[in-house]
Amino acid sequence: MWNPAVETMPREQLRELQLQRLKETVRRAYEKVPFYREKFKASGFEPGDIKSLDDLAHLPFTFKDDLRNNYPFGLFAAPLKEIVRIHASSGTTGKPTVVGYTREDIATWAEVVARTLGSVNTTPDDVVQVAYGYGLFTGGLGLHYGAEKLGATVIPISGGNTKRQIMLMQDFGTTVLCCTPSYALYIAELLRESGIPRESLRLRAGLFGAEPWSENMRREIEEKLKIDAIDIYGLSEIIGPGVASECLCKNGLHICEDHFIPEIIDPATGKVLPPGEQGELVFTTITKQGFPVIRYRTRDISRLIDEPCPCGRTHIRMARVTGRTDDMLIIRGVNVFPTQIESVLLSIGQTEPHYLLVVDREKSLDTLEVWVEVSEALFRDEVKGLEELERRIHDEIESVLGISVKVKLVEPKTIQRSEGKAKRVWDKRDLLKS
Ligand SMILES: [Zn+2]
Repeated sequence: MWNPAVETMPREQLRELQLQRLKETVRRAYEKVPFYREKFKASGFEPGDIKSLDDLAHLPFTFKDDLRNNYPFGLFAAPLKEIVRIHASSGTTGKPTVVGYTREDIATWAEVVARTLGSVNTTPDDVVQVAYGYGLFTGGLGLHYGAEKLGATVIPISGGNTKRQIMLMQDFGTTVLCCTPSYALYIAELLRESGIPRESLRLRAGLFGAEPWSENMRREIEEKLKIDAIDIYGLSEIIGPGVASECLCKNGLHICEDHFIPEIIDPATGKVLPPGEQGELVFTTITKQGFPVIRYRTRDISRLIDEPCPCGRTHIRMARVTGRTDDMLIIRGVNVFPTQIESVLLSIGQTEPHYLLVVDREKSLDTLEVWVEVSEALFRDEVKGLEELERRIHDEIESVLGISVKVKLVEPKTIQRSEGKAKRVWDKRDLLKS
């Protein structure tokens, strides 16, 4: 554990700290950011109205569009001369969302990421390979600063060039790998194909995030790479990686509650839901100086787990994210998350962990086709075996999701591999709209 004094702080003390920091943050946002001041005034709210943590629920939400509408620096709470770093989303759909960090924010970020790395007992003896992208994306530099703060040896290799990743992993003795879960699987696949013996690697743990993944995918990665695979969570609007991380109990991700206050809400009504209930994650930062955010709607679907964890950390956990409110496919009125299909495929086990969901509309009826790769051997096998597998997958998805889908088994390597976030859905209905 990187910071036991904070990570095991008694909850009452933690809540006191949160309240004090929340008051400071709300006042800062009100005084420094016209956007918040106007919104608070419009809802009849003044910073002095925060008397308890429950009062947070009276504040208005902040949406991704608010960041876009105040592009680029409109939501910064510090003058640019105090901002030492800027990150931004890729902005594939319009203007990117931009976030800024003061020197103090960068230190906070390194601290919370050091806790993430500490959850797999990383020490200065470890060699950490950061295969997240470096640049405007927060993944690479986020992990980098945390690993350096902790004193580990960092390999800032960034994403891509998988053969080189494997070579350095062998030659530099990498012990901890940081990347997306889909890229970890790709690395595992290439390792197997290259016939590299597992004993030539010192790899013992992986910190995987930046996209939703399932429990079955964890098993698959752990088995193939022979490591502990840990789910980590973060988003640039809040700070980047470091917002939350699983411990080795692998039963949910501890949120750094001394820096971020989580809420789960009903995405339709905005009502706060109690621990255990599934809904949309909302975060309020309570120590950020350059870019504080109040009640940010992440669009990630999760739930809070408030039972004590055997690891001794007292910070509340969030369940692994099962999807995003905007990833959710609505097929003939049924809500479907790609991770649910992934889970079914991996539980059946006769397919490769590479799949694509193709959504279309025929005669005003939504159709869902699941393309999934099978092994070379199975593909060459007689047709009967393939048909049987198709039927099994079809039946299993129908029983889990309650909808009938078409299953298409495809040859190995048909589905495009990803060195970053995997693309799991091809929604042809989007074309019909335009
Ligand atoms: Zn724990």
